[in-house]
Amino acid sequence: MEESTREELDRDQAENKDSIIAKVQKFMQDGCGCRQGLKSGQCSDQFTEETILNNVYNCLELSQAELDLVILANIQAFTAIEVTGEKRKRSPPYSFLHQSQSICKEMFLNLYGISKSRFQRLVEHYQSRGISLRIHGNSKKLPHNALPLAVNEDVKNFLSNYADENAVLLPGRIPGFKSGDIRLLSSSDTKTHVCKSFKLAC
Ligand SMILES: [Zn+2]
Repeated sequence: MEESTREELDRDQAENKDSIIAKVQKFMQDGCGCRQGLKSGQCSDQFTEETILNNVYNCLELSQAELDLVILANIQAFTAIEVTGEKRKRSPPYSFLHQSQSICKEMFLNLYGISKSRFQRLVEHYQSRGISLRIHGNSKKLPHNALPLAVNEDVKNFLSNYADENAVLLPGRIPGFKSGDIRLLSSSDTKTHVCKSFKLAC
């Protein structure tokens, strides 16, 4: 079951790559239709289909995080800083470039084989975090209530000492307890009580 899901995923990704290539090919054949190119022509005419496709093939070989960084570096290069207090200019805040040639946004998206929504998400990411990796969920972040390592060590040492002083060893092996060296605290030693002692000790 798992194997077939994996195969499906691989196939989906391959199909996705094929559809990106097909889309870029069509885009280059139709032309972008803007007037930002040389002599007010469309900017896509400045590049051959082969050049653009080669770039897309390279981008498709990159991981998502790697391509994100390429796009973020571009965003940093072509985003003007908005000066507060100054009247908002009508012109778009970006001037997309490829090999020093001015290009339109559509051309840029096709050059890297990315969707409008992914570009938009990266613009927002750049505005709040600058050039940094987008990390999903909390895979690398500690939970907000996690204690620093040093405090964890203190708690561990305290509990160990506390148990040495106050706990009794269970007499022999008790059914239901896997470990034979379980130490039992008196029922008067509640969590609150132990916590108070810890605070007093620190
Ligand atoms: Zn264009």
